[in-house]
Amino acid sequence: RVRSSAASDVYKRQVSWTMVKNTLLQVWPIPAFDDNYLWCIHDGESALIVDPGDAAPVLQYLDQNKLTLTGILITHHHADHTGGIVTLLNTLGSTIPVYGPAAIDIPGRTHALMEGDKVEIAAPRMSLEVYEVPGHTLSHIAYFANRQANVVEPMLFCGDTLFASGCGRLFEGTPTQMSQSLAKFIALPKNTLVYCTHEYTLSNIRFALAVEPNNANLITWAQTAKALRDQHLPTLPTTIGQELQVNPFMRCDQKAVIDAALEVSGEKSLPTPAHVLAVIRAWKDRF
Ligand code: ZN
Ligand code: FE
Repeated sequence: RVRSSAASDVYKRQVSWTMVKNTLLQVWPIPAFDDNYLWCIHDGESALIVDPGDAAPVLQYLDQNKLTLTGILITHHHADHTGGIVTLLNTLGSTIPVYGPAAIDIPGRTHALMEGDKVEIAAPRMSLEVYEVPGHTLSHIAYFANRQANVVEPMLFCGDTLFASGCGRLFEGTPTQMSQSLAKFIALPKNTLVYCTHEYTLSNIRFALAVEPNNANLITWAQTAKALRDQHLPTLPTTIGQELQVNPFMRCDQKAVIDAALEVSGEKSLPTPAHVLAVIRAWKDRF
């Protein structure tokens, strides 16, 4: 469980990040459960919450920072991402819009979203594009905010699809679906800030090093991430550019990752990134 002092450290690091990166919109992690981050996007007055698995830490955060909740963004149906919705609506107002995937029932959902939909929010002023990213669950979606008036660098809210140095478990989807979903992220600008919803980075790095023991960027990142966690700081957000260098699931077209997958599977060929992803995802599941 995240200690309360860790939460304030999280905020200190996040302040410096957002002052540099996003001058008007701020994005802050609210720690919840053992390793979830509930991301709060706000402009100093109005706030959006992404994937509120628990209401209590959100209510406390909004109160402490004198913020008004104006919307809830949901990436997928799992309880650690949706469990706080009903309490937030009952406490703060049942007219707060709840955005979520169209393909599955989400409690309180007012806006059912599909691939290509645009979410236009008045306050905090922002525009988000919706991607369908099946794999972790079949109805999983992600929200992408490209550069705009108050977003200096693009932002991606990817739920449990992509993690720093890893990807979500395939509870409902196939390796091919996850590969196609990650391909959508690979195509995003390299400077896109990626707001993953779990602090899984150190265990993901241990596996990534088993796949690519000689990846110099990964070795450096392992030291940086450990230093951050030793100080109870988040390793997030990451960026698309960073993940392209260190995340084996984003590198299924790279020779070192293909060679590791060939060796562990005993296959003679793995002709597509989806075949490679299938091998390394199964390998990680038993790692
Ligand atoms: Zn999940
Ligand atoms: Fe989760």
